[in-house]
Amino acid sequence: MILSSPRHGRNGCRAYMDKCLQTVFRKIYRDNQKLILNYSSGTSPSVIRAANHLMSHPSTSRGVISNKKFITKCNSSSLVVFGHFRTFDKSYRVMMDILNAMDVKNKSYIFLTDASLRLPFDKKIKVICRAISQALVKYDCVICSVGELYLATNEFKKCVSKNKNTSMVIYHNPPELYFKYPRALPAIHQIDRHSFAIMDTNPIIKQQLHLDFIYGEPSFDPDNVLTIWKNAVRTILRYFSLPIKTQSSLRVLTCNDFRAMQTYIDRVALADQTDILDHIARQESFYIPSEKCVYLGSTRLSDLAEEAAHMIKYLCGVGKKDEIDFKKNFYGLVLHEALGFLGSKIIVPTRKAPMKKDIADARRVLTNVPSAKISKTDWLKLIHVLGYGLGEALYRDIRHKRISKKEIKKLFYIDFNDEILAKRTYDQWNQRVYS
Ligand SMILES: [Zn+2]
Repeated sequence: MILSSPRHGRNGCRAYMDKCLQTVFRKIYRDNQKLILNYSSGTSPSVIRAANHLMSHPSTSRGVISNKKFITKCNSSSLVVFGHFRTFDKSYRVMMDILNAMDVKNKSYIFLTDASLRLPFDKKIKVICRAISQALVKYDCVICSVGELYLATNEFKKCVSKNKNTSMVIYHNPPELYFKYPRALPAIHQIDRHSFAIMDTNPIIKQQLHLDFIYGEPSFDPDNVLTIWKNAVRTILRYFSLPIKTQSSLRVLTCNDFRAMQTYIDRVALADQTDILDHIARQESFYIPSEKCVYLGSTRLSDLAEEAAHMIKYLCGVGKKDEIDFKKNFYGLVLHEALGFLGSKIIVPTRKAPMKKDIADARRVLTNVPSAKISKTDWLKLIHVLGYGLGEALYRDIRHKRISKKEIKKLFYIDFNDEILAKRTYDQWNQRVYS
């Protein structure tokens, strides 16, 4: 019996997991959408906890084994069970590497996969366990691929223990393991005699990719982030014919690179360190000019592109200053976000802008609420809603040839830190795109 595995089959175990995860993620997503009311609650507490944990704990890694040893173990096992995370390619690559390295000459093999089983997860595991028992009678080695394997470890242990000659290798990575071995990515960890975990992607990235996947947001592969970043920068520069040289020594990191990130954090002033950790916990992106380092807090391509546009503004000589008075330079910050959003639309034209109602709400808050009563979080909400709204309108007008790219090019060279100039520029453009 061979069940073939369509790489992105949308059924069975995946549907089950989707359903479970959707409940959690729908809330996060809903919060993200309500920019005005809930801008900062878009990050789930578990993600914040995970980020803090991954950042603050020294390596506790024990039980790491070499690839070679792991392959030997695979070769001497009669049952090899993989768990994998379907929304991310890296798991597949790891699995394929292992399969390629296995000694197929002297054994009869069978490969089982759950992708075409349209069953709830618990039933599916039972079916697979039965299939394994049957296959083990006929074949020397059974390789089985199951989705969220860590949900079913016990079932497999039971199934395997029935066959005395069988040893088992498991590839699974429950989130707890990442907290236990935070600094050891990627590596193979021996959990117990028969279980192994390949640590390739941390749970934050997994969550993000899953969220992107469910809601059809284009995401980028964190493994190739530098190439994707460079392409985005180049595309935006070309779009506006900006004669800016890109930085060759720039490093682009994601929350998959906590270890490298820690090195940069250690180098900046203590006050900035807390600020940076705050950003990371809120899954925000930022640029550290002194370190020539970009950190991307999410896996959304639109976020990457927005950060690229922010950096381009900086390279034009007039980037956002560090100490910002939200109230004093409100419109300068709005303009920064408008250009950021506009840049991201060039890379991801489908990116959604704030709704008219959100923009109207933001304006109402600005006119009716005394600025001393607006919290930092609310200032950020207001800046982003108005900035993104303006960015969307600019993009629309460029597309309809009502605004020339040359005019926008000039905006990149205006110093938005100059409050009076920023206010005047904002009023001008605001009137133009909304009239
Ligand atoms: Zn931004």
